[in-house]
Amino acid sequence: MTVAELARNNPGGLIGKAFSFAEKAHKGQKRKSGEPYFNHLTATADTLSSWHLDDATIAAGLLHDAVEDTPVTREELRERFGEEIDFLVDGVTKLSHLKYRGAQEKVENLRKLIFALSQDLRVIFVKLADRLHNMQTLSAVPREKQKRIALETNDIYAPIAYRLGMQNLSGELQDLSFPYLYPQESKWLYDNVRERYKEREEYLENIKPLLGRALEAHHLKAYTIDFRAKRYSSLYYKLVRHNMDIERIYDLVAMRVIVETVQDCYAALGAIHELWPPLPGRIKDYIAMPKPNGYRSLHTTIIGPDGKFVEIQIRTRIMHEEDENGIAAHWLYEQYKKSGLNPDRPTRKLAEEVRWVQQLRTWQEKYAGEGEAHDEFLEAMKIDFFKDRIFGITPKGDVIDLPVGSTPIDFAYHIHSEVGNACVAAKVNDQFASLDYELHSGDLVEILTQKNKKPSEDWLSFVKTTVARDHIKIALREKDNRLRAKRVPTKVEFKVAVQNRLGLLRDISAIIAKSHFHIGSINTTKQSTAKFPIMRIECELHERDKIERLILKLKELKEVREISYRVL
Ligand code: MN
Repeated sequence: MTVAELARNNPGGLIGKAFSFAEKAHKGQKRKSGEPYFNHLTATADTLSSWHLDDATIAAGLLHDAVEDTPVTREELRERFGEEIDFLVDGVTKLSHLKYRGAQEKVENLRKLIFALSQDLRVIFVKLADRLHNMQTLSAVPREKQKRIALETNDIYAPIAYRLGMQNLSGELQDLSFPYLYPQESKWLYDNVRERYKEREEYLENIKPLLGRALEAHHLKAYTIDFRAKRYSSLYYKLVRHNMDIERIYDLVAMRVIVETVQDCYAALGAIHELWPPLPGRIKDYIAMPKPNGYRSLHTTIIGPDGKFVEIQIRTRIMHEEDENGIAAHWLYEQYKKSGLNPDRPTRKLAEEVRWVQQLRTWQEKYAGEGEAHDEFLEAMKIDFFKDRIFGITPKGDVIDLPVGSTPIDFAYHIHSEVGNACVAAKVNDQFASLDYELHSGDLVEILTQKNKKPSEDWLSFVKTTVARDHIKIALREKDNRLRAKRVPTKVEFKVAVQNRLGLLRDISAIIAKSHFHIGSINTTKQSTAKFPIMRIECELHERDKIERLILKLKELKEVREISYRVL
């Protein structure tokens, strides 16, 4: 049933109320494609409903853009729909502030942040459903934005979906991003593979009755056989690994056999191998040894009629549901259980791969183990793996990972020591905040700086990180030294080994002058034994602690090979 139908059937229910509220709030708004904005919300909610999520999540899907994109306020939403909906919508709003521009070293931080910010897996489900529809309608968006969204989807959201065991969604998100990230490659693939997909499907359609009869001969009655065409994006990555040789891809279109029980899976495998010889080394038992994300199925590749290789995947209905919907599938068990059906309780064994996947497992096992109450299940959806860390966001959308209790000063020093030293004020979520303000995950932090500003000693009393503490101490010491050393002229001679080039002398003098050193003389000599000519620079200065800094500055010139100095 679509969400529109659900709403129509029960207009006074949560979904019904959210439906009409969102419709009104977004009235007159259009998407980039020209279609009514409200379509985006029903599409998002329909996806959530197809994942069998609860009413609150579906309602949050309908309302997820109301606060961000309409005059509706959080307070209003909370008043009308309660705290749960407000919490879910607010979580999605926070996630929308994150921007990923392809910095590989930040990928994991960003994925963690998404989990930390969400606090509840249902927030991620809404975000994923929202992203799915945005990807489906991405062609209407300006080119630059297309690229960024596609990259973010491919690098951040598809892997998150995968780790949550939502393979189907993960693959779909990758497929949707693929043409935006690799336009030429995807065109090549489409031109070269489309025909072959059709051929394969016809072939499988022809051998399907043979397989059906073999299963029935083994008393496997309740079964479904369908096909799964390999996704374009994953086909492409696989082709790259196999020298673009399409003949070597056996699972271009795989056959899928869905049966009732685990025993039936093995029985079906036997029946298939009796019918067609299996290809050695291609039988994979992901039921006994599930993939790290929990995927379970039996895989085999057989030699079919006309000597063609066919990959066949065998699984139970529940495994199939899990494969499609991952963790979201657990909502289905909840519903099965409520209606008194036996859902063939899953026994997922997630490998010891990623820490937070393990933590997800803990509650999964707990949930799968005994008949837990719904409340406890909701409790289990809460994510607290990162309870000792907080994640702040820079105005550019970068994520800064800090310990709990960190302040804007810590944040500033984690961007750069210069930013920390020059910090004068901070804005948190667009509001001025005191420098000892305790940051929360998802806070948008803007550091305001002033040139030549130095840190103040009382910052040491509230900063949380050693990085900040160390830098503050260094800067304070420098300040002290400077006061002491002030106004005592010193003569210094620098010896700089350089690889000479036209204009180098000018560049070096400019750097020295900028540091307020008075240049006395510069001579260049080339000794026969030395590899590089030596530049001798005599100058006068008032602050000795600036020498090191000047040396660092000079070393930024790539022609400068070595510097030494002596005080005259
Ligand atoms: Mn949206």
